[in-house]
Amino acid sequence: MQDHITPRRVVILGGGFAGLFAARALRKSPVAVTVVDRHAHHLFQPLLYQCASGILSEGQIAQPLRAVLRRHHNVRCVLAEATDVDADARLVHARRPGGGVVQLPYDDLIVAVGMRQSYFGHDEFAAHAPGMKTLDDALDIRRRIYRAFEMAETAANDRERKRWLTFALVGGGPTGVELAGQIREIAGHTLDREFRRLDPAHARVLLFEGSDAVLGGFGPALAHRAARSLQHLGVELHLGTRVTDIDAHGLTVRDRDGRTTRFGARTVLWTAGVEAPPIAAALARATGAEQDRAGRILVEPDLTVPGRPEIRVTGDVMSLDGLPGLAEVAMQSGAYAGRSVRHAVEGRTKKPKPFKYVDLGSAAYIARGRAVVKAGPVHLTGFTGWLAWLFIHLAFLTGFRSRLGAVLGWSVAFATSSRRERACTMTDTEVPAARAVGPKTSPPS
Ligand SMILES: Cc1cc2nc3c(=O)[nH]c(=O)nc-3n(C[C@H](O)[C@H](O)[C@H](O)COP(=O)(O)OP(=O)(O)OC[C@H]3O[C@@H](n4cnc5c(N)ncnc54)[C@H](O)[C@@H]3O)c2cc1C
Repeated sequence: MQDHITPRRVVILGGGFAGLFAARALRKSPVAVTVVDRHAHHLFQPLLYQCASGILSEGQIAQPLRAVLRRHHNVRCVLAEATDVDADARLVHARRPGGGVVQLPYDDLIVAVGMRQSYFGHDEFAAHAPGMKTLDDALDIRRRIYRAFEMAETAANDRERKRWLTFALVGGGPTGVELAGQIREIAGHTLDREFRRLDPAHARVLLFEGSDAVLGGFGPALAHRAARSLQHLGVELHLGTRVTDIDAHGLTVRDRDGRTTRFGARTVLWTAGVEAPPIAAALARATGAEQDRAGRILVEPDLTVPGRPEIRVTGDVMSLDGLPGLAEVAMQSGAYAGRSVRHAVEGRTKKPKPFKYVDLGSAAYIARGRAVVKAGPVHLTGFTGWLAWLFIHLAFLTGFRSRLGAVLGWSVAFATSSRRERACTMTDTEVPAARAVGPKTSPPS
């Protein structure tokens, strides 16, 4: 029961698009909002591949959550990972980084924890083939891409050099397509004339996809255009193939006829699937909610969990009418959940209208001057698609400084093919191998 002194407590799990838009919708409400996230930043995932490929810096795609919400005086940010929900006691259990537990009581709970990379039951692939969902993933991929060229330069023989110069991407959705295009551009343009023993343009980029098309979600015409653009860039498409094994030296794939082929590749990147994080299963156990095959929570049309009107699920981790995992779905559902709580606080008794997603379309970047955009009947490709892509991403990027930085990064990359953000660290085990072939130098005095 609510008294007049303690404001209603709203706990939001996740500070991604859905969580942020829920918090923003509650900005002027007399409620105490707690945003819990296991990272201290809000991440613009659609530009992760640009950070991974060195066009944008990590600061341009990730903003401190506290800074983003600093004018929301009713919002407190908590750095912790939610591990369990006690639905009867209305309590979230969370783990702080480095140890220690926090308990967060709520009157309303908004779950916006997104999805994580799935390896379809082969978690052992993760050690050799990082996914791309977090900032750490993007920085790891950046390191692997640029390291591969360094290692190829000092490789002991041709066979080894070829392996370092072969990049395999698993998954032909937007992320796989974007990364494949970026690596070919790095090889063909960015690194031009930088190496002495190899020609980076000889790098092979292989893209493996289980279905018959890349970017299948964009429809056959755009998928066909995207495939042509990729092939024009020099990306080798392997459609209708399933990866059966990955190790440090390459991967094995099986085609539809059951034939298996081994490809040597020292860099394998995984963008093939997603699954719900463990907190979704904990919520399902606590509330009796159903989960779909990927672990998303099935919700009512008003985004509440069946039988629990105080718990709403939004964004990628919600399962409703087959809505796709897109930033716009997350923003609209987060804002809807925040507004529903606001209406309840204002004492509106009328049941809210069901959540209705307004489809604003989707876009995928292929390379400099090439993108595909689908917005209802409007289909754009090539340079016009690329211009539309630029405009959409600038409009949604959080913070003026990030936008300015992105415009600068894109201008440099477009005008000169160079990338401003190539700095990355190499691990101890890899650097000595590269050093061994260099000229002998005396130790510093
Ligand atoms: C590489 C990539 C490219 C993409 N490109 C596009 C695109 O071009 N267009 C488009 O529309 N969409 C794109 N998407 C999808 C889009 O980014 C997602 O749909 C959107 O981010 C979902 O928002 P969300 O808030 O539901 O989840 P997220 O943005 O994933 O946010 C979830 C948040 O919850 C936090 N979290 C997770 N578990 C816990 C826990 N247990 N406790 C506390 N915090 C937790 C995470 O740290 C994260 O901050 C892309 C996604 C990726 C990965």
